[in-house]
Amino acid sequence: MERRKFIKGLGLGSLVLGTTVAGLPKASARSRHRWKMVTTWPKNFPGLGTGANNLAKLVKEMSGGRLRIKVYGANELVPPFEVFDAVSRGTAEMGHGAAYYWKGKSEAAQFFSTVPFGMTAQEMNGWLYYGGGLKLWRELYADFGLVPAPAGNTGVQMGGWFNKEINSLQDMMGLKMRIPGLGGEVLKRLGGTPVNLPGGELFTALQTGAIDATEWVGPYNDLAFGLYKAAKYYYYPGFHEPGTTLEALINKEAFDALPSDLQAILLNACKIVNQDMLAEYTARNPSALQDLLTKHHVDLRVYPQDVLQRLRTLSAEVVAEIAEKDAFAKEIYTSYRKFLQQAKGWSRISELAYLQARDGG
Ligand code: CA
Repeated sequence: MERRKFIKGLGLGSLVLGTTVAGLPKASARSRHRWKMVTTWPKNFPGLGTGANNLAKLVKEMSGGRLRIKVYGANELVPPFEVFDAVSRGTAEMGHGAAYYWKGKSEAAQFFSTVPFGMTAQEMNGWLYYGGGLKLWRELYADFGLVPAPAGNTGVQMGGWFNKEINSLQDMMGLKMRIPGLGGEVLKRLGGTPVNLPGGELFTALQTGAIDATEWVGPYNDLAFGLYKAAKYYYYPGFHEPGTTLEALINKEAFDALPSDLQAILLNACKIVNQDMLAEYTARNPSALQDLLTKHHVDLRVYPQDVLQRLRTLSAEVVAEIAEKDAFAKEIYTSYRKFLQQAKGWSRISELAYLQARDGG
């Protein structure tokens, strides 16, 4: 009864009743499914890994145990950057990661995680759910036998951890930095060397000097990895990740084999986690930042304006070039750009104007 009330509260009541009334084959309505979810995150990592755990827990609760998903951390079943392939070929029915990790499969996938100087979390959700973004994402992943769903958002990230001050563009040149996705391409264009490493390898790489700098997520997650022990300067803003969407990957065959109520439960659980993770980051980043500044004496710095300006110009070039890859990439780019242009005008007189007014500046 509790479960029913919960589902009804989500607007799924009619669907659940519908399947009862319509009388789906009993085997289907009662069928039980045990799935595996592979992730790109260290097991139980705060926010990201626990978000994946939360997704599995919600699905189990909402389905009354009919769909149970066992979550695997990075390297438990497959290495972190093999999650996409593992779900595509059905080694696991589900995955949790971020679309920019799969730019080797499709450059255009990166639009569905985050774009330098692109949309905030709020704007991403607007584009994905109501601006045609998710439809394009589903079309793109269908070629790989996958169904994607937004399943988490970190909000605006931090610029990253550096062992030297960034006072000019020259300081960014020659820098070997862990920075994934399009942000990495921007650094490359500036004369740096981007490296893509899974989260679990960042601390050691930074501490041993294998990389000069790294970005990860934000105060909550960066504190958890202890990155402050390996680098002194903490730069903001995260121009490269203004509102990163995390993704659930679902094997299409496995998804199609589910009865429709379990499909709805699964997709709606993803939607809950997508919003819930953003709320968690919004709650935990401020206190983590205080800890970094007061307990660990981190040197917080803002990127110089001229550096940001150059990064903004290069970002526009890098992002526009994806549109030249193929016709579908162009369609995705055009949809993203059009939504962003409109969202900018509204955000300027709503969020931005309000935040400035609140701060009195
Ligand atoms: Ca990041």
